Amino acid sequence: LLQLIRPLDRLGQLYRSIKQSLTDVEQMLTLLDQPAEVADAAGAGSLPKGPGRLRFEDVDFAYDPRRPVLNDVSFEVPPGRTLAIVGPSGAGKSTIGRLLFRFYDPTSGRITLDGADIGAVTQASLREAIAVVPQDAVLFNDTILYNLAFGRPSASTEEIEQAARQAQIHDFIASLPDGYETMVGERGLKLSGGEKQRVAIARAILKRPRLFLFDEATSALDSHTELAIQRSLREVSRGTTTLVIAHRLSTIVHADEILVLEDGCIAERGSHAALLNRGGAYAALWARQQADREAAD
Ligand code: ADP
Ligand code: MG
Repeated sequence: LLQLIRPLDRLGQLYRSIKQSLTDVEQMLTLLDQPAEVADAAGAGSLPKGPGRLRFEDVDFAYDPRRPVLNDVSFEVPPGRTLAIVGPSGAGKSTIGRLLFRFYDPTSGRITLDGADIGAVTQASLREAIAVVPQDAVLFNDTILYNLAFGRPSASTEEIEQAARQAQIHDFIASLPDGYETMVGERGLKLSGGEKQRVAIARAILKRPRLFLFDEATSALDSHTELAIQRSLREVSRGTTTLVIAHRLSTIVHADEILVLEDGCIAERGSHAALLNRGGAYAALWARQQADREAAD
């Protein structure tokens, strides 16, 4: 029997690691519609260690050469800082996330993380350094514990609980009769959109990434849940480089820099206060969203 256990255990590990890469792909698919084939450069090494300095340098990009999508996009996110990207639908916001994940390569210009051109390192090492919190988190038909541990399969129970606390989902889990062993997903407990998103946040925390990429939910969350999630995201990302693709400006008031993207070009940039002062596109968008809010209340 003992002879059987080893291989079965290996098989279990293999199964888990396959499932792990499947979730990662699924998570990406929600953020990034259609991943393309981008190969590792010949002899590519791992992304060197670093504090998380992200740079886009004169990045141009087009899915179809006849139609440019990003034009001369340059920005830097210093280690531990937060950059928010806002702008109308179709402006190219998610494309920036796709390029960062290297689902596509820029047509010209380059993207560096801690000085390394992301096109010159392995995709595996790049993606390991980045944790994505997508709009629609994917959960497996498995226990909550298992779903959380995806962020880092080697994490201890204490670390998992701590991440759940930070993501403000621990109390909810603890209140369930089966606690962390509760089955979730299609055949288990159905979590609300907000609860699923918090599980995704806890997973991302466990990953201890060099960079967070948040694609904010467009709707679906009630304003109370939304506020709570925003607060935990801000808490969690403190000290870690963060890129937020924002739909509601109220969520990015605290960002160190905000880029307003229009037709693939950076139309405005600055802090929330500076952009309001400027009285341009951002200020107009802000006024509109405030009015919508008041109308909704
Ligand atoms: P945003 O996130 O700001 O709404 P996207 O970055 O998703 O915008 O898209 C920018 C532009 O690129 C849009 O015009 C969109 O239609 C186009 N686009 C997005 N994905 C693809 C794709 N896979 N192939 C071709 N065009 C695409
Ligand atoms: Mg988008």
